[in-house]
Amino acid sequence: MTPDMILTNARILTMDPARPRAEAIALAGDRIAALGSRAEIERLAGPATKVIDCKGRTLLPGFVESHLHLVLGGTELTHLQLHGADGEAALTKAFRDFAAANPASPLLMAQGGHYTLLDHPLTRHDLDRIIADRPIAITSHDHHTVWANTLALKQAGILGGLKTPPGHEVVMGADGQATGELLEFEAFAPVVALGGENALYLGIATGGEPSPWPTEAEQAIHRTKATKGLAHAAAHGITSIINMDGNRYTLELLRGLQRAGGLTARVKVPFHFKPHMDLSELDRAAEMTRDFNDEWLSCNFVKMFMDGVVDSRTAYMLNDYPGHPGHRAEPLFPGPRFNAVATEIDRRGMQIAVHAIGDAAVRTTIDGYEAAQKANGKRDSRHRIEHIELIDQADVPRLGALGITASVQPVHAPGAMDFPLFPTLDVIGKNRWNDAYLCRSLAEADAHLAFASDWPVTDISVIRGIHAALTRPTYDGGTDQRVPLDDVLRAYTAGGAWAAHMEGLTGTLRPGMAADVVVLTGDIEATRPEDVAGLGIAMTIAGGRVTHQG
Ligand SMILES: [Zn+2]
Repeated sequence: MTPDMILTNARILTMDPARPRAEAIALAGDRIAALGSRAEIERLAGPATKVIDCKGRTLLPGFVESHLHLVLGGTELTHLQLHGADGEAALTKAFRDFAAANPASPLLMAQGGHYTLLDHPLTRHDLDRIIADRPIAITSHDHHTVWANTLALKQAGILGGLKTPPGHEVVMGADGQATGELLEFEAFAPVVALGGENALYLGIATGGEPSPWPTEAEQAIHRTKATKGLAHAAAHGITSIINMDGNRYTLELLRGLQRAGGLTARVKVPFHFKPHMDLSELDRAAEMTRDFNDEWLSCNFVKMFMDGVVDSRTAYMLNDYPGHPGHRAEPLFPGPRFNAVATEIDRRGMQIAVHAIGDAAVRTTIDGYEAAQKANGKRDSRHRIEHIELIDQADVPRLGALGITASVQPVHAPGAMDFPLFPTLDVIGKNRWNDAYLCRSLAEADAHLAFASDWPVTDISVIRGIHAALTRPTYDGGTDQRVPLDDVLRAYTAGGAWAAHMEGLTGTLRPGMAADVVVLTGDIEATRPEDVAGLGIAMTIAGGRVTHQG
């Protein structure tokens, strides 16, 4: 078959141990037709073949992003981005420009607000001075707080307060009315709903489905947001996405894009199992798995949260938090319950991905996977643990031994990219820095590694992620956790594909595999680690189709 496209004069790293390097690659339809030397491949060209000279740049399998939130990230791209807008004057200008550009938006929502935007805690009165006659709101950069103006609170029906579950709070003022500060999802959900975006948050918030089901017009708006997310991913070289929130609606939304030819990355979407759910709700996961099962859109996995995060001391720990005697936080699934849930998911043949940040959460999760294996026998399950920010040394070898994937985000390690060293490292305590944000130690103990950003929690850029993994600082008293370039690239390609049961489709460059390719703007092997962040994405190809050109 005559190739449609040949990329030649490239430094190709195939991630295929049988043939790690090549100079040129031929693509035919949605598949890789051949790899080899320039002479071998260029001679395959026909009159209609597009031949691209890569000028000695690195060419890799398209990146597999192992943990992100596609629709939420895409949604946030449609919001006002506040980066650098500090102080009332800058905030006012940013919001008024955004309002003028979006005259029909029912809610003017901003992203990336810092807790020190103004010189005092933000209130609805501050926001009223900026815009009072349209509902406006700001989401904090950590996604745990929203500030809203008076009209937004009024329209959301929470100006007079709201009954919320523990940990979620509509903060009330001395005047008996909401101050505008809304803590955690249940508190700000009514404001988010004003923007028509609540349906998009259910996959992470409740795991339920929108009710009523969004109208065709609403779905069209939601598809636009997903499209923005996909374009953003393609611009960063990503051709496969493991989404880490989900429900059937997310899959239906993406199927709409797929039918219209707009699905530019392979996406796996989980069923989100929440602590309140009965095991019988896994029937819904089985139905999603049955109904979405092609090379571009699939399910077959269940996402769960075992704990919270370090900074708010909601990560479940084996020891007391320093300075907080008796406080280790609680697991969202106590051990015996998690064992039962994990065993049932495993019995149904599905994969499990558990958010576990504290060392006790990690241990409880490993115990559950071990229990499932004991009950159901060893199968090719590839269960995964997401984050692993703290792990007891005794548990490190258990990952490799049980075939568990460590789905870690090198960019989350304090000091590695955008997150500062403190207060996080103080919350963990210096005596545990040797067990925190491990990467190299996990790899050396034979854990499968899959890397990711957790976008929109951090920048989606894989290049910056590679840079972070190569240059991550060593903590005082800790060991060097930098990972060699080849292992880093593997964790963003073949490792991620394996962890997602997609190694027969993508993640390596071999004849017959999907034509998922990324070309960088330089030769990454010839670039010093500290300079890697200066590289860019020259071209992304997913399934033979160019999805980004730099
Ligand atoms: Zn996440």
